[in-house]
Amino acid sequence: MATKITKINQDTFMLTDKLIRVNQFLLCGEKRALLIDTGYGGEKFLRAVKKVTALPVTAANSHLHPDHSCGNYLFEEIYVGAADMPENGMPSNELAHSVAEYYRKNTHIPKAVINKVEKFGVMQPREEKYLPLPELMDLGGRKVRVLPCPGHTPGSVLFLDERDKTVYAGDAINPAFWAFTCPNTVFSAYADVWGSLKDKLCGYKEIRISHHTKPLDIGYIDAFMENLRSLTEKDGKLSFIKGGTKEPVYIYKKHNEKYGDMAVWAYPSQVR
Ligand SMILES: [Zn+2]
Repeated sequence: MATKITKINQDTFMLTDKLIRVNQFLLCGEKRALLIDTGYGGEKFLRAVKKVTALPVTAANSHLHPDHSCGNYLFEEIYVGAADMPENGMPSNELAHSVAEYYRKNTHIPKAVINKVEKFGVMQPREEKYLPLPELMDLGGRKVRVLPCPGHTPGSVLFLDERDKTVYAGDAINPAFWAFTCPNTVFSAYADVWGSLKDKLCGYKEIRISHHTKPLDIGYIDAFMENLRSLTEKDGKLSFIKGGTKEPVYIYKKHNEKYGDMAVWAYPSQVR
């Protein structure tokens, strides 16, 4: 798929898949480049990476969801959060299959369309080798720290670029956070996960996320935590995901004066 290259600064780039609109990030040091997420891969994506840097590339995933990791096959080695290592199972495959099965059985949507959408929801490792992310990645004159942030998937991580004071968060925080992809995540516990990371994020300025091209400012974390702690079942409306999930998926939403609507997609049992 076609990839748009956006230069964030002289050695930091955002690579956006034009169809699915998911961002990958390339951080170049003096010796290596770190590629955060591989999107859906493809020759055009690989060409975009090579166009941006001639450095050896270390590829890593913010988490093992298909829109972040289907391009892993383009690299010999891939780093992921320990809890998302493939031997622990693919975090979203079962969900994608069961939702697709529901739509095949209960709707008149052409099966070819459902099958195609289902493929976008499934991640299948190939020959690439998986390694657990270290706590620190040294790119040469640029260090990136890795912090586990379990909640969207068990192995979701944050990448902290110490030089630019930027956090790369994948899907771990955003205005439409998906909690139902990890049914054990309850709102208060996930707010506590972020609370426990706050000290380590002191001095950081902004957060780059996967499904918006604009960064969030670091103050978003406090608002996100407050939202998680204040949402109740009354704030929920049924989402368009109509079946095939363990419970119905609701969108729990409140409006924040500074940041606008803050939504969490979740099962009712997660709202506590
Ligand atoms: Zn995800």
